Parts: sequence; C-alpha cells; structure tokens
Amino acid sequence: MRGPLLFKDIDTAGLTSIATYRQLGGYETLVATLGKTSPDECIEIVKASGLRGRGGAGFPAGMKWGFVPKDSPKPRYLVCNADESEPGTFKDRELMEKNPHLLIEGCALAAYAINAHVGYIYLRGEFEYIQRILDRALAEARAAGFLGRGIAGSGFDVEIHTHLGAGAYICGEETALLSSLEGYRGQPRLKPPFPAVEGLYACPTVVNNVETLMNVPSILRHGAAWYRQWGTEKSPGTKIFSVSGPVRRPGNYELPLGTPLSELIEKHCGGMRDGLKVKAVIPGGSSVPLLPASLLDTGLDFESMTAAGTMLGSGGVIVIDDQTCIVDALHNITRFYEHESCGKCTPCREGTYWMVEVFERLEAGRGRAADIDLLNDVSDNILGKSFCALGDAAAMPVMGAIKHFRDEFEYHVTHRRCMVNRRREVLAGVAP
Ligand code: SF4
Repeated sequence: MRGPLLFKDIDTAGLTSIATYRQLGGYETLVATLGKTSPDECIEIVKASGLRGRGGAGFPAGMKWGFVPKDSPKPRYLVCNADESEPGTFKDRELMEKNPHLLIEGCALAAYAINAHVGYIYLRGEFEYIQRILDRALAEARAAGFLGRGIAGSGFDVEIHTHLGAGAYICGEETALLSSLEGYRGQPRLKPPFPAVEGLYACPTVVNNVETLMNVPSILRHGAAWYRQWGTEKSPGTKIFSVSGPVRRPGNYELPLGTPLSELIEKHCGGMRDGLKVKAVIPGGSSVPLLPASLLDTGLDFESMTAAGTMLGSGGVIVIDDQTCIVDALHNITRFYEHESCGKCTPCREGTYWMVEVFERLEAGRGRAADIDLLNDVSDNILGKSFCALGDAAAMPVMGAIKHFRDEFEYHVTHRRCMVNRRREVLAGVAP
C-alpha cells in the first residue's frame, strides 16, 4: 500500500474499470450521500475536514463551495482543474491514469454539494491519452447510472465532460482555464468577481484540483474527524508529493501533511544517489522559492513552508544536488516562465524577457557585477505587480536563489563559469 487514502488502492490491477472500482467500495459514498445528506451538510462536512486545495494555493475547499450564491437564477458549474502544468508536479497524472472513477465520484459529489448539473474536467493538451481513459470511465459511470438523470437512484442530475486544452502553463490559473474552456485565448481575468460568483459563462463556478476532488468521497464517507487523523491542525489530511531529481527512488508519495522534508527524501526516496548531497530543494513546483539544505527538517505543510520563506504549492519536490549550478538551474526555470508568459501585462511580459537576458550574460561569462542586483530588482518589479500569479512564480524563485546562493551568482561574474562542476560533464568524462 503506497498511501493511506488516495494511493491506498492505486496499484490494484484493473482499477480503471468500474467493476474493480466498485469491488473496492467505489460509488458507495455517492449512493449513501445523494438524497440522504443535504448539499449544505456536505459543504459543512468538507469545511470541518479542513480540506485545502491541492493545486497550489491551498484555499479551503469547503469555504470555496460555500461562496457559491444560493439565490442565483443562473446555472452553476463544477470545473476540475486537471491542467497540472507546474514543472516538477506529476501526481494528478498518476491519479487519473490509474483511478479515474475516484475522480468522477468526487466530481459528482462536489457537483451535488453546489447544485451544479454540469461539470468539466479540463486537461492540458499533452494529456490526450488521459482523456481517453477518463472518457471510457465516464461512459461506464453513465451506463451504471452514476451520471446522467436521477443518478444513483436520487433525483439529482449531473453530466461530466472532459475538455482538452492546448498545453499552456497559464491555463492552470483558474480564470485563464475558464477563458480557454469557453473557447477564448487562455488569459487570466480580473478578480473579483471570483469564479464562485461569476465563472464559466459568467455563472457561479467552483474550480477544484484533481487531488482535492479525489479526497471528497472518503471525507463524506468517514467524516471530518476521521480525515483529521492525518496532517496538522491547519493543514489536515495527506498530500501527494512528486519527487524529482537525483534521489534513489523518485516518484509520487502520499504522506501526512507536516511530514519533514528530510524524511521524504531520506526515508521514502532512499536518499541521494551517486554520492551526491542535497544543496537545495524546491518544495512546491518550480514557482516557489527554494529551501537550502540547512532547512530540510521543515515540515511539508502550508504553514511550516510559509514560515521557512517558501510555499507548499503543488507538492512538486525538486531536489537539487551539490554538483548542480544554482545559476544554471534558475536560468532554466526562468526561460520556462518567459516562454509561458501570456503577454497580457507588462511587468511579466517584459520582466521575464529581461531576466533571461541577464541570465544569458551570466551563463556566457559576460556578467557584470551589477547584474545580480539588477536581476533582483527586475524580479522585485514583477513580484506583486503582475496581473496574475505567473509573474510572482517567475520572480520568487530567482529572489530566493539570490538570497541563499548569492556566492554562486558572484562566482559567475568573477570567474566567468559555474562554481561547481557540471555533473553531466563530469559523468561524461569531459570535465574534471
Ligand atoms: Fe499574463 Fe504573466 Fe501578466 Fe499573468 S502575469 S497575465 S501570465 S503576462
């Protein structure tokens, strides 16, 4: 068993079929809830569980559901954010590939709670093969009476559709996702109004991440107190961490929130390989500041990560070893954000371009002494001044890297090369 909740049955053979899913108790919560527990009670249970969004922001899911206006004459929509475009994050992909019916059951329950009769699962363009898995599962659920009219013997109707985007990072941002879903260019919209009040087709819409929605069936089945046996007071439950980098066993791990980062790396991932040491870790996908090795005992929960100067984000844990140049690593990350900037606002569009220019100078051995402060200054002029969170995502990692590893930036300026040997070159035998 790879985890207590979402990964409990994940490697069961045939789990993508509805027969196997039902043998393991699948759809029992839907049958037990619809028409027996009121939508408001469902919202209260999810609120009491403390379930927080697993896509990156960590906003309480039950509270978000509660923001949907009850007196609106407009239809309501449930949208599952299955874009998973944050570099270093690959948990939703495994969850959907192996257990699609758990997502469908979670979507149907969330739709019931907010009284939505239509739901969409928005997938990034590269997830076409997952769309096929989900579409097969949706057809099975429909044939079994768990989607469509009067589902699970209740009077509640709901239909769920998949939708494939074109593969843009910004479409993981909820308002850009909604624009894309409506057929427009995937660019963020001004908030407020927030989607819960005015989202898809200007109607009340709840947007939740895949992992968030997959937690809903077990919370409604076992209750809030049961769910709170894992995690911390403010960050209850488990979280799936996607670990990449030179550890012995990279992959997805489901652990209680609050587990120390060092335990994840040393115990679960088997420590570092090839005699390498940890230099830094990016704990929440590439958009959050890195943590130096001295802070590896920090707990993997929303509050502890914030206190340590970073964020839990999506749980994409990128381990950076002592033979990797921080300037190289951040250049790579910054190029990604420059490429993915949607161009709508000036600080992000121009700033990310400018940051890449400075990185290219540093990498080419043409860096000037003033470039390090310039890089910090450009980042500071993006941070908090951009239209959406992508600007912050581009700025924060660079500012964190300069704060913790300024000596490596200075080495690039004074010695015109990396402070550490490039591991690839060492392994290839072309560098000492
Ligand atoms: Fe677009 Fe970047 Fe501005 Fe967001 S911050 S709206 S991605 S240009």
